[in-house]
Amino acid sequence: MKSLLLFDIDGTLIDTEGAGLVSLEEGFFRSFPERSGSRFPALDLGGATDGSVVAFLFEHFEIEDHDRHRAHFFRNYEEALAEKLREFLSMKKGRVLPGIPELLARLAERHHDFVLALLTGNTEAGARIKLESFGLDSYFPFGAFGSDHHDRNQLGPIALERARKATGRSYPTTKALVIGDTGKDIACARACGAKVLAVATGTVSRETLAADSPDGLLDDLSDTAEAVELVESLLDL
Ligand SMILES: [Mg+2]
Repeated sequence: MKSLLLFDIDGTLIDTEGAGLVSLEEGFFRSFPERSGSRFPALDLGGATDGSVVAFLFEHFEIEDHDRHRAHFFRNYEEALAEKLREFLSMKKGRVLPGIPELLARLAERHHDFVLALLTGNTEAGARIKLESFGLDSYFPFGAFGSDHHDRNQLGPIALERARKATGRSYPTTKALVIGDTGKDIACARACGAKVLAVATGTVSRETLAADSPDGLLDDLSDTAEAVELVESLLDL
């Protein structure tokens, strides 16, 4: 039976080195220029969904939270994100995390065993812009996104349903593995009954991740053989 691997993006596959945060700020002030004299608040982005970030921003700036404002903000954010990533990459800022290209290539080769997908707080467009910038987009034909639900814990069932539609087969949660870098990734795997492999390549330390008892825990994914072996053992392959 095939297994479903659900990858987080920021801190797991890539580190935009601030381009994401700068784009949220830029996108916000482009959308609401009348607020441009105000200070942009500190954001806790680790594991957050873009939907929860925008809810926080609208509350902070006392902007009415409705679909039209959200669509306006996301359009400007995504435009800023594409620009900032180009700018950052031209300055050699932003990177694919250690071992990721090798690991994805190895897992994709084993298409009889693994289906690769995304489980991320990014909007789908934002996720695509980020992954395209780093040449990783083609590995992930589908996923569950921050644009599907503002609560990350609701994204697991959405990912499982998308997988069923995209591949024509169902995945029991024992055959689904979330791979992510924060406690929120661990919580979202628990919420849908999936296994979880935590990696300390984001802003959360290995010790802090360990306290949330993920099924597997690695410093990074740089050792392809070790990572594949752990993935196999977590999925009983
Ligand atoms: Mg992350």
